[in-house]
Amino acid sequence: RHWNVTNDFTCVLCHSGTWEDWQHLFFGCQFSQRIWNYLHIQWFAGVDLKQIISDTQRSFGHPFFVEVVAISCWHIWKERNRCVFEGIRPSFRSWRRDFIEDISLLQHKFKPPWVGPSSFG
Ligand SMILES: [Zn+2]
Repeated sequence: RHWNVTNDFTCVLCHSGTWEDWQHLFFGCQFSQRIWNYLHIQWFAGVDLKQIISDTQRSFGHPFFVEVVAISCWHIWKERNRCVFEGIRPSFRSWRRDFIEDISLLQHKFKPPWVGPSSFG
């Protein structure tokens, strides 16, 4: 299986052969699950995305939940595109580097009480 085949619509971030839809890509995929574990975000189950987000946000307990999730998903998407269009293998390390870079800008912009990327371990 080649990493840069663009007419292949199964997920490129994992080896599961799962059809690539947004639910798999951002929630079901092992690649994304490692990221949510790292961020200590435990997604609630449900069918209504708004409800899932508000339940999860409440349990997250830190400010800037929406920003953290948006930046996370943006960089998951970038890892996916880098793989599809440039044949670069997705990696947690490169995701994390990009995430921390962006979150640092956010931290600078918002100041405390943002707890900072170090709290993510
Ligand atoms: Zn996947």
